[in-house]
Amino acid sequence: MEAKIAVIQGDGIGPEIIKEAKKVLEKVAKVYGHTFSYEEVLMGGISIDTYGEPLTKEALETARACDAVLLGAVGGDVNTSPWYQLPPHLRPEAGLLGIRKGLNLYCNLRPAVLFKQLREACPLKDSIIGEGFDFVVVRELTGGVYFGERRTFVENGLRKAVDTMPYDEKEIRRIAEWAFKVARKRRKKVCSVDKANVLDTSRLWRQVVSEVAKDYPDVELTNMLVDNCAMQMVKDPKQFDVVLTENMFGDILSDEASMVTGSIGMLSSASLSDGSFGLYEPSHGSAPDIAGRDMANPIATILSAAMMLRYSFDLCKEADRIEQAVSQVLEEGYCTCDIKGAGDKLVGTRQMGSLIAEKI
Ligand code: NAD
Repeated sequence: MEAKIAVIQGDGIGPEIIKEAKKVLEKVAKVYGHTFSYEEVLMGGISIDTYGEPLTKEALETARACDAVLLGAVGGDVNTSPWYQLPPHLRPEAGLLGIRKGLNLYCNLRPAVLFKQLREACPLKDSIIGEGFDFVVVRELTGGVYFGERRTFVENGLRKAVDTMPYDEKEIRRIAEWAFKVARKRRKKVCSVDKANVLDTSRLWRQVVSEVAKDYPDVELTNMLVDNCAMQMVKDPKQFDVVLTENMFGDILSDEASMVTGSIGMLSSASLSDGSFGLYEPSHGSAPDIAGRDMANPIATILSAAMMLRYSFDLCKEADRIEQAVSQVLEEGYCTCDIKGAGDKLVGTRQMGSLIAEKI
């Protein structure tokens, strides 16, 4: 197949980790006979330095015209970088919010996979980890309480603040459909998480998710209250395949899920829109403390590229191959400095990328 990928290197370790992800993509292209072309797009601090704003309209249009977006990370040291003297809407992270909104990326996927080589980094007991776990949090990203009306005011002499949590059935249906589609590419189980014992939005959420489930009879649907889910994720994470939830619950649960996997340098993510368009990025930031020193772990970005192949290009075999290559390299004892305990052969960013590419 032929695909056009918008590449946003960003700041800090961004260019280093993107280079390794492209190395792996090029190997996939060669082995499986695909052609990937790349459009470089500026975003974040580098765009501020070049154009005076973190995301230009032209950059957004270029990204929109591609089949998918691969992003490194944006931002600098928040204490020392001059970017953080600017008003909030001109800071690097405003580019991230701008591209998510501009490209209507309403579905966020955060896989939580425990590579068995990283058991030591997992804070859970061996008896809980068992043979490891592999689930994905599907989080609604553009609705709910983060986007509802809010205000702070004084009433009867008391300061008061109100946030609202609106959801309509269309917003719920489209994210639920993503969760069921993702489950079909996995172990065919969706656990929908809400607070239906208290919230009206959650009761509507539950109704609409059950309606969508009728179109996916091959996928098992269960419902769980969010407080229980927070406990179950550390008590028995193996039970989960796809966890579907709204924006704020997903924000909290996806961070909990990443914590139980051990290292931030290993965590990929995808933000998806209608159709097959998506933006793929590691869950970590631009790590300015190690930028330019060949120390960054490129695996989260490489696994994000694998997600791009699976969800935007429907190249599941190729995505599986990348994931196996990562596992094999870890199995052979190679590690970057953030996952030192996982192996005895410490390598830099470039060598880690090359080792993974060689296994494809
Ligand atoms: P961070 O994720 O960049 O770094 C936290 C710690 O983890 C640092 O010690 C760093 O060295 C380490 N780390 C992160 N990624 C690593 C990797 N791949 N390999 C090895 N070690 C790694 O978070 P932070 O320090 O809070 O933020 C730094 C900058 O990144 C800030 O400007 C922040 O706003 C930005 N940020 C951007 C994104 C994004 O682009 N999506 C996300 C989070 C933070």
